[in-house]
Amino acid sequence: VVEKGQADHSIITTCAYCGVGCSFKAEMKGSEVVRMVPDKNGQANHGHSCVKGRFAFGYATHPDRITSPMIRKSIHDPWQKVSWEEAINYAASEFKRIQAKYGKDSVGGLTSSRCTNEEAYLVQKLVRAAFGNNNVDTCARVCHSPTGYGLKQTLGESAGTQTFDSVMKSDVIMVIGANPTDGHPVFGSLMKKRVRQGARLIVVDPRDIDMVRSPHIEADYHLKLKPGTNVAVVNALAHVIVREGLVDEAFVNARCEAESFSKWKDFVAQERNSPEAMESVTGVPAQTLREAARLYATGGNAAIYYGLGVTEHSQGSTTVIAIANLAMATGNVGREGVGVNPLRGQNNVQGSCDMGSFPHELPGYRHVSDSTVRAQFEAAWNTRLDPEPGLRIPNMFAAALEGSFKGLYCEGEDIAQSDPDTQHVFAALEAMECVVVQDLFLNETAKFAHVFLPGASFLEKSGTFTNAERRISPVRRVMPPLAGYEDWQVTQMLANALGYPMNYSHASEILDEIASLVPTFSKVSFKRLDEVGSLQWPCNEEAPNGTPTMHVDHFVRGKGRFMLTEYVPTEERTSSKFPLILTTGRILSQYNVGAQTRRTANTAWHSEDRLEIHPHDAENRGIKDGDWVGIKSRQGETVLRAVVSERMQPGVVYTTFHFPESGANVITTDNSDWATNCPEYKVTAVQVTKVNAP
Ligand code: SF4
Repeated sequence: VVEKGQADHSIITTCAYCGVGCSFKAEMKGSEVVRMVPDKNGQANHGHSCVKGRFAFGYATHPDRITSPMIRKSIHDPWQKVSWEEAINYAASEFKRIQAKYGKDSVGGLTSSRCTNEEAYLVQKLVRAAFGNNNVDTCARVCHSPTGYGLKQTLGESAGTQTFDSVMKSDVIMVIGANPTDGHPVFGSLMKKRVRQGARLIVVDPRDIDMVRSPHIEADYHLKLKPGTNVAVVNALAHVIVREGLVDEAFVNARCEAESFSKWKDFVAQERNSPEAMESVTGVPAQTLREAARLYATGGNAAIYYGLGVTEHSQGSTTVIAIANLAMATGNVGREGVGVNPLRGQNNVQGSCDMGSFPHELPGYRHVSDSTVRAQFEAAWNTRLDPEPGLRIPNMFAAALEGSFKGLYCEGEDIAQSDPDTQHVFAALEAMECVVVQDLFLNETAKFAHVFLPGASFLEKSGTFTNAERRISPVRRVMPPLAGYEDWQVTQMLANALGYPMNYSHASEILDEIASLVPTFSKVSFKRLDEVGSLQWPCNEEAPNGTPTMHVDHFVRGKGRFMLTEYVPTEERTSSKFPLILTTGRILSQYNVGAQTRRTANTAWHSEDRLEIHPHDAENRGIKDGDWVGIKSRQGETVLRAVVSERMQPGVVYTTFHFPESGANVITTDNSDWATNCPEYKVTAVQVTKVNAP
C-alpha cells in the first residue's frame, strides 16, 4: 500500500465493474496505483463512486495473478510454464487439428462483458474469420440477451433509451427486478435523490430491497410478486391502462403500428389479464396493481428501470417486450425523464453485444444471413463469412456432450462458476479436447483448460467500455501489462497462428475499424473521446455528438411495434419435496463470480454467500439466524449459512453467487428464456433444512 499524497501523476480511465461506467482518476506513483478518485467531470458519475470502483482495484496486482502462459496435454496433468510463442502455437495447432478431424464447426469462442469493445470485436472476428464459423457468444447470454431481443423487436434497437441523468426529469420511477443500491450504486443514489425531491416510486420485486424502504425514501407501491410472474404483473398493469382509458392515443396513433396496437389492446383488455384475475398468480393485491398502473400512466414523465430480475426467467424476453409495450402505450418514450432502461450488470454488457458477440449477429446487430452486410464485412476482413448463425453457449455445451464441439477459446468469462447447472457445464468442458482460457487468474473454468493465456486487467490496457446508457468511455492503460501483452494482442497472436493475419499496432486502430463498419459508431474514435470525454451511440453523421435520448421523433425501426405477451408459468414448479423458490442476486461489496472483489479488502464486508429466509419458513424448519442450512434442488445441493430476514416473503429464499465454494449454481435450474436461452437463475424450486456446520 502506497501512502496518501505520494502520487506523481494521474490518468483518467473507466471503472471495470458495473454498467454505470464511472469515470475515475487513477492517481499514480510511477506504475503503481496510489488511489482511484472518482472524476468530477465523469459524465456518468459526476464525481461519485461506490465501494467497488473506489477501493476494489487491488486484484490487479494480487499474488494470484498468472503472468506466464501455461499448457498441459490433459486436465489431470500439472501446468507447464511455456513461452508465449509456444502457448499460442500449441493452441492454434490444437484448434486446427480439431477442425480437421471434427469439422469447421467443432470449435468456437466466448467473449466477455469484462472485455473492452476492441477485445470483444477481435474475438468475434477471430471466430468468424479464422475459425470460419459463427460459434461466438458472450456472457450477455446469461444476463441481458432478452433485452437485446425484446427491445429490438419492439423499438428497433437493442439498447436503453435514456441517459442516467434523465431520471432527474422523471415524475414516476418504476424499478422492476433490479436492486440498484447493490448492483448499480451510483445510479441507485441518483434515483433516490430524485425520489427525495418528490418523484413517485413503484418497485416490482419479490424482496423488500433497499429501494422499497430505506432511511430516506419509501416506495409508493411495492408490488411484491411471486418470482416468475413478471409478465402477469405487467399485463395486469396494461389491462388497467387500456380498460380505464389511460392510453396516450395521440402518441400511439402518431408513432406506433396501428394493427399491432389494436391486437395488443384487445389482448390485454381480456378479463383473464385483469389485476383481480392475476392476484392469486402474482401474489400482488389487485388494488395495488390498479393504483400502480394509474400512477405510471398519469403521473407525468414515467421511466422504467429494470434488471436481471426481468431477464433471467423463462419469459425474460416476454417481460422486456411487455415493458416496452407499456412505455409505448403511455407515450413514455422519446424524451427526457421517461423511457425503457435496462440496468446492465457488467461494465461492458452493452458493448460486448454491440460488437457482434452473438452467434447470429455481426457487429452493430446485423444478422449474419444479411448478404449485403456480410459482403461489407467480407470486403473489410478479406475472407468469406458463414451465413448460418452459430452456437449459443448452451448449444456449445450440448454439442460438446454429443461429441461434435471440441474446442473453446474463452476470454474473460468463468463459465464453470457463472453458468447454471454446474454439473452439466463441468461435463461439457471435460468432453472438449482443447479449452483455452485467457484470464487474470486460474479461475474455475481453468480447471478444465489445456492452455492458459494470461490476461490484462483494466489498468493494463487501452480501449473503450460502453455503459448501460450507450456511453462509450475510454479505458486508459495506467501500468504495463504484467504478462507483457494486452488481451487484444493475445487474440491477434492467436489469429495469426491460425493463419488469419491481424496487424493492429494499437487498440485505437481496432476502434477505427469498428467505426468504419458499424454505422452507429461512425464518428467514434480515441481522438474524439480524448476531446469530449465520452460519446453515446448512435454517434454518426446524423448525430456527430452522440445521442443521449433515443427514439425522439420516430422509433429506430420506424413505427413502434406492440407484441402480445401471454403469461406462461415457468416449468420450474414447487412440490412437497421442493416447496420453496430460490432466487439469486448480488451484494454491494462483491461482484459477480467474485474473481476480482474476493481478492480485495472488500471481502471484509462480505466474506461468504448466505441464504436469506423468511422467519416463518425458518421457524417451521427449526432454523435460527446464523445456522448452517442445506439447500437441495432437482439439480444438486449445497450448504450455506442462514440469515433469517423479514425482507423475504414466505416461500421464497435468496442467495448470492460470489464465492465458488458456495456452489449456488450447483442448484440453479437449467430452464431458460424461450427466445434467447438466458438461464432462469431467478426461479429454482428447493428444500432447505438445518444441517451441521460443514
Ligand atoms: Fe464502478 Fe459501478 Fe461502482 Fe461506478 S457504481 S464505481 S461503475 S461499480
